[in-house]
Amino acid sequence: MRKDDCIFCKIAAGEIPSATVYEDERFRVILDLGPAQKGHMLILPKDHFADVTEIDSVTAVHVLPLAARLGAAAKKGLGCDGFNLVQNNGPAAGQTVMHFHMHVIPRWDGGPEIVAWTPGEQTAEEREETAAAIREAL
Ligand code: AMP
Ligand code: ZN
Repeated sequence: MRKDDCIFCKIAAGEIPSATVYEDERFRVILDLGPAQKGHMLILPKDHFADVTEIDSVTAVHVLPLAARLGAAAKKGLGCDGFNLVQNNGPAAGQTVMHFHMHVIPRWDGGPEIVAWTPGEQTAEEREETAAAIREAL
């Protein structure tokens, strides 16, 4: 299941060279070309899924343990103090390549802020209305 014009399908298949950190029958893990921090990795399934709403259960089961393993390896191998798992879905959420991928971003104490937001405010009524709208759509 791949998409002909998808760059991440081509990279995952090894048709376009990449700095590969890990590969198995389901995934290729590469270094991001524009790293947020040194060691910024992308987990690419070899099958094409546009985003997290499309991934199959086998991919879903394996992606998080792999991300955890890569994060632990970054701590050991690069000496980072923590790591972020980031996974964007849709252009509104910052997704620029429409092939599901998970970012594993090493973080060092005192390093730049990468994943941050300003906490907003909602009344209890607004929260309940919001929760109900999501609940009813499940
Ligand atoms: P996203 O914004 O979640 O879709 O992330 C896409 C990521 O892919 C960005 O961090 C890009 O720097 C990275 N990227 C795009 N093209 C390539 C490529 N050919 N090789 C490695 N990373 C890439
Ligand atoms: Zn693809």
